[in-house]
Amino acid sequence: MPELPEVQTVVNGIKSKVINRKILQFKKYTCKLRYPINRNVAQLVEKNRAINVRRRAKYIIIELSNNKSLVIHLGMSGRIIITQNGFQKKIKHTHICIFFDKNIVLQFIDPRKFGYIFVTATNLLNDHKYFRHLGVEPLKKEFSPQYFYNLLAAKKSPIKNIIMNQKYIVGVGNIYASEALFIAAILPMKLGNEITLLESDRLTKAIKTVLKKSIKMGGSSINDHTMISGKMGYFQNKLNVYDREGLKCRKRTCQSNIIRIVIAKRSTFFCKECQK
Ligand SMILES: [Zn+2]
Repeated sequence: MPELPEVQTVVNGIKSKVINRKILQFKKYTCKLRYPINRNVAQLVEKNRAINVRRRAKYIIIELSNNKSLVIHLGMSGRIIITQNGFQKKIKHTHICIFFDKNIVLQFIDPRKFGYIFVTATNLLNDHKYFRHLGVEPLKKEFSPQYFYNLLAAKKSPIKNIIMNQKYIVGVGNIYASEALFIAAILPMKLGNEITLLESDRLTKAIKTVLKKSIKMGGSSINDHTMISGKMGYFQNKLNVYDREGLKCRKRTCQSNIIRIVIAKRSTFFCKECQK
């Protein structure tokens, strides 16, 4: 499933191609992805320019010149491909094509149809039912050690669950949660209210670091003509603990092996020597 860094990479890619481009045609090849696609989407977006492309949580937001925003969620297996030399052919599982001027075509591909797309007024986006309950953006300044510490103070669930809960912090999935906890030297099962301000400081920094690193790697894999998104992998050969059960801890001075446990039905990896 695409996580925050992958979505940010896609957003950066889309932005570089469609900014200031006018949507000539919005074409759908299905009526329903995870949710039905609103009938008047084409009418709402056509003849308007893309004035900004940004990310909120794992949503891709294309802001248009008519003060509407086209919002795309990649779901489990969604991908976006942009071609710059017009429409060659519809790729298998393409459900939506957006034709921009200057021969730019954006295709939304999703074999499992868990993604979704909708249009809403840009200034009402934060109140939209999918956005209303979203937590803080981990890469923004507002996600600070003190903010995080205050948020954790009353929470009696494992720190890893709290990090992954979209109500509190958006976009940090299982892989990044395990990795950040390793870097911060905190056990994943430690409870929220046991986290000290010092640990909160380490953990906020670690979360920002793993996400930024992954965005940087993903960003460099885009080439000039096509962009393929929704695939994990940029970060995978750099992982410290995730999916490394039984393997030796990467910290040079540590002789321990990585352990896997299940927390809230999700595989959780850590080093019992390095994390306390
Ligand atoms: Zn270790």
